[in-house]
Amino acid sequence: MMKSYEGKSAYNGIAIGNIKLYKKDNQIVNRKHIDDVKKEQERFEEAKAEAVKQLQSLYEKALKEVGAASAAIFDVQQMMLEDVDYLASIYNIIETQKVNAEYAVAVTGDNFSSMFATLEDDYMKERAADVKDVSERLLSAIGKKSSSNFDLTEPSIILAEDLAPSETVQLDKEKVLAFVTVRGSTNSHTAILARMMSIPALVNTKIDLEDGLTGKIAIVNGNTGEFIVEPDEQLLAEVKKVQEEEQEKRYLLQTLKGKDNITLDGQKINLYANIGSLSDLASVLQNDAGGIGLFRSEFLYLERDTYPTEEEQFQVYKQVAETMAGKKIIIRTLDIGADKQVDYFELEKEENPAMGYRAIRICLDRIEVFKTQLKAIFRASAFGNIAIMYPMIISVEEIYKIKEVVAEVKAELSKNNVTIGKVEQGIMIETPAAVMISDLLAKEVDFFSIGTNDLSQYTLAIDRMNQKLENFFNPHHEAVLRMIRMVVENGHKEGIWIGICGELGADLSLTKTFLEMGIDELSVAPPYILPLRAEIRKLNIKN
Ligand code: PEP
Ligand code: MG
Repeated sequence: MMKSYEGKSAYNGIAIGNIKLYKKDNQIVNRKHIDDVKKEQERFEEAKAEAVKQLQSLYEKALKEVGAASAAIFDVQQMMLEDVDYLASIYNIIETQKVNAEYAVAVTGDNFSSMFATLEDDYMKERAADVKDVSERLLSAIGKKSSSNFDLTEPSIILAEDLAPSETVQLDKEKVLAFVTVRGSTNSHTAILARMMSIPALVNTKIDLEDGLTGKIAIVNGNTGEFIVEPDEQLLAEVKKVQEEEQEKRYLLQTLKGKDNITLDGQKINLYANIGSLSDLASVLQNDAGGIGLFRSEFLYLERDTYPTEEEQFQVYKQVAETMAGKKIIIRTLDIGADKQVDYFELEKEENPAMGYRAIRICLDRIEVFKTQLKAIFRASAFGNIAIMYPMIISVEEIYKIKEVVAEVKAELSKNNVTIGKVEQGIMIETPAAVMISDLLAKEVDFFSIGTNDLSQYTLAIDRMNQKLENFFNPHHEAVLRMIRMVVENGHKEGIWIGICGELGADLSLTKTFLEMGIDELSVAPPYILPLRAEIRKLNIKN
């Protein structure tokens, strides 16, 4: 029977297809009876050998990239895998309860980690998380899965409680028709990813997730925020018609390819694209972006189980540079923390992660990680027009520190006779502090790119991840608009250019305002480029 649910649209457009329910790995350990105890124990032994192998290679990578002190954690985890009590518990549960290895590992993991958590000693307390980690690694190894076990066999509408950016990036983009999540907010990185992929998406959808929903046909209407399960024939036909009309509009926009971003009275602006990985490049070219204004490099780290090496990063940046054939590519250095969590960084849980240990703070603290990335970027700069930008800046001192690290990296490269190109270096303006000292910051850098997503959350004290606050959030708040104006004025006084790379840049109702302010560049998800061009070409700014 047809049922309609209300959500909040994170990206427009319509999708029609079958639902696939996404569940997290750790929810699917079932207790199963087994007869062959020996065979089950062997399954566990194999998984253990695999987990040891994985930890050994993580250790070696970490040793190279972050040094012995941080790598030691993988050594500790390997030792846990050999701990006699831990192993005895798993063997014993399989044998006495005649249950599957997965169940024995999950129960032992829970028991041991809660036992560690009650200990007085702080060091031992912290091991609680390691036991959990080791147990989860074992669970994936038993199922012989990589960290993601969610395979899409046909194009589907993904329905989930919530999706973390690291989960979203691992999905096969070709097979995702739409996202619908029960939680989440429109400014979250998962919503941003949906926009990058031009996939209709709803967040904050009021629906109870039941297994029965899998396989049912549904409509995701990103224009109205509706999620309709088992639509009747009449509605299906109507929506299909709207879908075709939208297709037609998109087709018409293609006629704007190759045209300038120029207003009727001759004011020009650069329209660049935001990307997260190589797979977004096709869309960048298809939508005729003038360059890449924000390459969220942290997605390279989120897609994997361990640090990307200098060489691996170099290959990616080089490919982007070559593909863009001389057009500007602004690579933002690693911006993890807050909602973008990477297990192997082992970041502690924080009370206020958005205001926590993240982005440039991590890079200036874990210099080796930072240097590895900078080396890869500078090496790639010989193959195209690459610029670097640093996230979450709050002070001039941070820029001095960055400059020291950059000088060291350049010296090392030059010692090894590596050629590098000319690299513009800029910063993101996404904290109120950076806005207020933008006159000072402008003297130190080549450009500013305003990150309105974070700038809005810090200015308005509205957590961008908190769905309850969506109704309090006014993206056009005068405070944020005044800040943008101030940044443009201060930047232009020092002769540098200013862009916007937050989601607000794509808001067509503000395009005129931004042009009036004198913004030099807007960097948006690729599907927004041509609609923006169409809007700009209709505007008259000076009169
Ligand atoms: C921003 O904060 O506006 C921004 C562009 O960066 P991110 O959304 O990745 O935090
Ligand atoms: Mg940001």
